[in-house]
Amino acid sequence: MSDQVVTRFAPSPTGFLHIGGARTALFNWLFARGRGGKFLLRIEDTDRERSTPEATAAILQGMSWLGLDHDGDVISQFEGAPRHAEVAHQLLADGKAYKCFSTQDEITAFREQARAEGKSTLFQSPWRDAEPSTQPDTPYAIRIKAPRDGVTVIRDQVQGDVTIRNDQLDDMILLRSDGTPVYMLAVVVDDHDMGVTHVIRGDDHLNNAARQMMIYEAMGWDVPVWAHIPLIHGPDGKKLSKRHGALGAQEYQAMGYPAAGMRNYLARLGWSHGDDEFFTDEQAKEWFDLTGIGKSPARFDLKKLENLCGQHIPITGDAALRQEIQGYLAAAGLPALTNAQSGDLERAMYCLKDRARTFPELLEKAHFVLTSRPIKPDEKAAKALSSVSDGILSELTPHVQNASWTRNELESALNSFAEAKGLKFGKLAGPLRAALAGRAVTPSVFDMMLVLGRDETLARLSDAAT
Ligand code: GLU
Repeated sequence: MSDQVVTRFAPSPTGFLHIGGARTALFNWLFARGRGGKFLLRIEDTDRERSTPEATAAILQGMSWLGLDHDGDVISQFEGAPRHAEVAHQLLADGKAYKCFSTQDEITAFREQARAEGKSTLFQSPWRDAEPSTQPDTPYAIRIKAPRDGVTVIRDQVQGDVTIRNDQLDDMILLRSDGTPVYMLAVVVDDHDMGVTHVIRGDDHLNNAARQMMIYEAMGWDVPVWAHIPLIHGPDGKKLSKRHGALGAQEYQAMGYPAAGMRNYLARLGWSHGDDEFFTDEQAKEWFDLTGIGKSPARFDLKKLENLCGQHIPITGDAALRQEIQGYLAAAGLPALTNAQSGDLERAMYCLKDRARTFPELLEKAHFVLTSRPIKPDEKAAKALSSVSDGILSELTPHVQNASWTRNELESALNSFAEAKGLKFGKLAGPLRAALAGRAVTPSVFDMMLVLGRDETLARLSDAAT
């Protein structure tokens, strides 16, 4: 095995990219990227009935939103079927596998009898040690010769050593009698041929590992490092399901969570680095290791996700945020921003991003710069506009129209106006927010004035005062 780390994400394309799948992909990505390794993507599309191109597209889209770039081409497991069959035939030629001519009826009869006699119902084929001369000229399956005694030990980096008694493993079929390879064979052959060094996947595959080990051993191939990660649970401790909320990674994009926050959150879901909750991609790549993966299921917690997102938005560049917001709008089925709006949004970003945990929150604060005159106040803002405040707004206009448009001067103009009127600044801010944004919650009035500029500010004040 080469020194370079090679990981892979191997989803079955039967639906969207599930939160659990996204976390598996992220762990593999972090592990490889932090070690100068490769992260490969294999679509496990051997189940022709359940695999769909739409699901593959959804998985690719989800990964692309999360920024989990893979190396090389996307590999289709189904297309590797001839190679998988070749390995089954090689094991046959090497005497590590055998032709089994038992029919389904015979297998069922074997099981019924074993059950009646209180014996193990694992099928024991009479063809395992049969003389080739006795073989009929009928279709056959190729079965592996599983070890009958001893134990198989999976040295798992998360679960520790997991020991399985070999008498609990049957001579599993490698190639069905119609010539199609089984999934278990395909996984091992692909992982070997792709040079995968570390298999990081859900612990629902732990049982498969024992059977997959048999194939590695029969072929004399290096066994990869295994790391079976516990599944994700809902906040109530039960297996994550639809009733806990959204399950598709991309639904979180449509809810307006930034990808960086989602990556940070998913990384913490079952993995830890001391007490660190918030970290950047660079830190995650540097820190991620298998020893930090916990043994017990992680619990999904939306509050924590929001909290982390609220820390990632402020440290993301303005242009990158603007672009990601366009992606959010598309995912949410909302109208895209025009070029002018998009430019205005980026100019205003410095005063929007600080306390926003999601893009809808950020866009709510951005309303003042995205909307155009006449400004329609919402219900709360309308309450701040009255005949009294209208008068105040028109009196204010001459005080600001000649101010040089800097924060300092605007602050002193507004403060001295408030003082002269015997008003607390807060009393002035309400009508100003309503006039400039039509909202009660906005960035500071100074920021809005600076972003809008003199002409637009004065126009909005005069609209509101009449
Ligand atoms: N295709 C399997 C799944 O989607 C993953 C198999 C593996 O990682 O070995 O659950």
